[in-house]
Amino acid sequence: MSAAAEFSRATKAEVFARLAEGLAAGVTVVTPNRRLALALKREFDDAQAGRGLAVWESADILPFTAFVERAHQDALYSDSITAVPFLLTPAQEQQLWEEAIGASEWGGVLLATARTAAQCREAWQLSHAWRIAGALGAWDGNEDAQAFAAWSRAYAQRCARDGNTDAARLPDVVMALLQHKLLRKPKLLVAFAFDILTSQQRDYFAACEKAGVEVRACGPAQMAANPRRLACASASEELERAAKWARARLEAGADARIGIVVPDLDQRRKAVMNVFSRVLAPGWNLPGAAAALAYFNVSLGMPLTEYPLVHAALAILELAHGETEFAVASRLIRSPFVAGCDSEMTQRARLDAALRKRAPVQLTLPKLLGLIESAGVDCPLLAQQLGALFAYAKEHVAGSRSPQDRARQFSALLEAVGFPGDRALDSNEFQTRAKFHDTLGEFGLLERVAPRFTYAQALARLRRLCADTLFEPESGAAPIQVLGIFEAAGLEFDHLWVSGLTDEAWPLAARPNPFIPAALQKKAGIPQAAVELSLARDKRITGAWFGAAGEVLVSHPLREKDRDLVMSPLIAAVPAGTWESLAVPDCPRYRDVIHRARVLESVVDGVAPALVATAVRGGSRVLADQAACPFRAFARHRLGAQPLEMPAPGLNAADRGMLVHALLKFIWDRLKSKAALDSIPSRELDEIIGNAAVAAVAEVSEKRPGVLAGRFAQLERERLAGLAREWLAVEKQRPDFEVVAREDQRELEVAGLSFRGRIDRLDKLVGDAGAGGYALIDYKTGSASVADWLGERPDDPQLPLYAINAHEDIAAVVFAKLRIGGMKFDGLARAEKLLPGVATIGKSRIRLAKRYASWVELVAGWKQELEALGRGFASGDARVAPKRLFKTCEYCDLQPLCRVHERVSSFDGEEEEEAE
Ligand code: SF4
Repeated sequence: MSAAAEFSRATKAEVFARLAEGLAAGVTVVTPNRRLALALKREFDDAQAGRGLAVWESADILPFTAFVERAHQDALYSDSITAVPFLLTPAQEQQLWEEAIGASEWGGVLLATARTAAQCREAWQLSHAWRIAGALGAWDGNEDAQAFAAWSRAYAQRCARDGNTDAARLPDVVMALLQHKLLRKPKLLVAFAFDILTSQQRDYFAACEKAGVEVRACGPAQMAANPRRLACASASEELERAAKWARARLEAGADARIGIVVPDLDQRRKAVMNVFSRVLAPGWNLPGAAAALAYFNVSLGMPLTEYPLVHAALAILELAHGETEFAVASRLIRSPFVAGCDSEMTQRARLDAALRKRAPVQLTLPKLLGLIESAGVDCPLLAQQLGALFAYAKEHVAGSRSPQDRARQFSALLEAVGFPGDRALDSNEFQTRAKFHDTLGEFGLLERVAPRFTYAQALARLRRLCADTLFEPESGAAPIQVLGIFEAAGLEFDHLWVSGLTDEAWPLAARPNPFIPAALQKKAGIPQAAVELSLARDKRITGAWFGAAGEVLVSHPLREKDRDLVMSPLIAAVPAGTWESLAVPDCPRYRDVIHRARVLESVVDGVAPALVATAVRGGSRVLADQAACPFRAFARHRLGAQPLEMPAPGLNAADRGMLVHALLKFIWDRLKSKAALDSIPSRELDEIIGNAAVAAVAEVSEKRPGVLAGRFAQLERERLAGLAREWLAVEKQRPDFEVVAREDQRELEVAGLSFRGRIDRLDKLVGDAGAGGYALIDYKTGSASVADWLGERPDDPQLPLYAINAHEDIAAVVFAKLRIGGMKFDGLARAEKLLPGVATIGKSRIRLAKRYASWVELVAGWKQELEALGRGFASGDARVAPKRLFKTCEYCDLQPLCRVHERVSSFDGEEEEEAE
């Protein structure tokens, strides 16, 4: 039942007139929520200013819950009122519910205790608001209801024992004190815009009357609107139109009060922010642009954890103790909320890039400090702050401590790194920090109910508290309000658009609380408990929208992806309107404005300045990149563009390659020839293999600390030993050879450029078949194809480059493919039977090999192709010309730099040719 039906009614003008008499008149107005109280207060102030007043006493307008809490505070701190229970904070309530659940027979089996406790708080609040708490145990219910009844008993006993009460029972506590003469009470209490009174609120107002307070009901003025209904193609079109419409109405009247209702606002908050910011303040996110939030305000806040400042604070606390992911540490190194970031910004970015190459996926603070020290990038302030963080944590965080102690430690840890940094915070960050401190204060208040916490427990609790705290920085009174359905109730507008009214969204589906027997909720008249109650409430809300503004639009989307949507039956009777009839001018996107203002100028951008130096870093990779795409070579090897790495668990492909190279180098350092391999006793060979595996793992562990340790290192040693045995069986099938070079550094030259390279292995082929020639061998653990050496712009020019530079007589160029189950040599040779499975050009099955008539021609062809690539690189050829078009680009990380996708049309013809 509404307040208006229970108490004599006053008009808003009458209420404002009484409020204008000042505080001595003893008028208090209570509203169902804070937003409405603020709006009403603002309206009262406008009315006072409109009367020509310069100063007036502030009106006592506040939400019902704040009104009750104020009375409770008065009683608590009064000398003459005794035995007033303390009010638990929401976090304290949560803690006690969790304890009640944990100590029950269900405690050991429930996985989501915190979530269950939150649902219990809701059920507890409902059961008191609708006066069914006493019947909880007596009604037949399912197992959930029985569990809740048991938890409620334990929770209530604990509260009674400690002299505490909670928000759900506070009106009852205060009600019992209202007769007390010394308790401050208004002379007139106005219940404003209470569409529905809960049983508890009705009792409260009745108790006020009994205590001599005059209680009146009041509501928003009803306007004579002519609502219209609009169909939009999709929900995103609906939002876009609503934003454009709001802008048009605001431009038509700067004082206009505009409301947009979005039923699923909690899920669409980001989309709303993006669309409204873009439409109301194009370019709002450019440096120096005015903040879009001056024009609109979104009613639902975001969890505190989603604000960067709080995110950084929690990351600092996480890093202080125990293991954390490298990604967390990486963000902190670059965070503006750690002191010294401005002066060390570039160095810290470099440090982060360096650490990404060496850090493990998970690390501790001491480990991070060690890595920073050895990274070779100087960030003294960062090292000092992280050092201070470590020193404090080492000294203080161990063991179990009270929540107050933990709260103090959290503050001290944040201080150790100079949180929140040394640049001036903007208004939003300033308010966010204040809210975070409040939350930290609330965490400390757990002292009254909670046991001691370990550091990890305390941090988890603080993180959850932040996640449960919805927060929106204050931004002044914005003319456009974007609201959820229930926040709009009682507000008055000049223009109101209610969106998203499909039959699925409106009326709302019944949602009885799972912990209270459904029949009990229905009997109590809880609106969301049953379909008919929910429908009746939603019809009233719909009717209220039609009178809430001079212009009212209701809308619904027609489709969602490939699904048709139907409008809500509650708006079917509203006359249909059209978008065109609203006469809303178009608001082009900022990017479209820029695009339209373009003046085209053609610049040939494929040629960079020619190289001056002849020594080139990057080895054969330079020529491989030049072959794949000249711009790729230019960007990587002349501009130094490198992708940022990210530590991944276990070994990566480069680590595996390093292990195999080290393994085989160690083995051939000992064996040196095929003859030795054939004659060595198997026990001795096993020993060499075992030692080689140990040495390889040790070498990689030194270069990549942390990736190979303990049992994993042992398994890797065993895997390497097995690999070596299998590979040596392949080597045994070869004719005689001597290993003359292993991991051999060479100076290479092509087109006047000099490179450094390392030959994996060079074997002298002994005996008639080899005729004194040499085999150039490259170890491969991944895929590799001989075809990649051949033709124009060869994909893998490494071995051809070594071959044309070798001063030895190269008779075979081969991959040694070391893959379990697929061990083999693969390559090309000058003559038959030099290596098992390696064919001559004439007998090769590779189509491209047929282009060359002889071994000499092949080597000459390599020289010609590599000279062309070298000349291209040296002359500054930097064309965006991927060899196989987008296939070459697929795994290239330079796409944002070369903007290849802007050249799609120029590749169209070439792609077709490629396909042919
Ligand atoms: S993305 Fe493609 S076009 Fe761009 S540099 Fe890489 S290979 Fe060249």
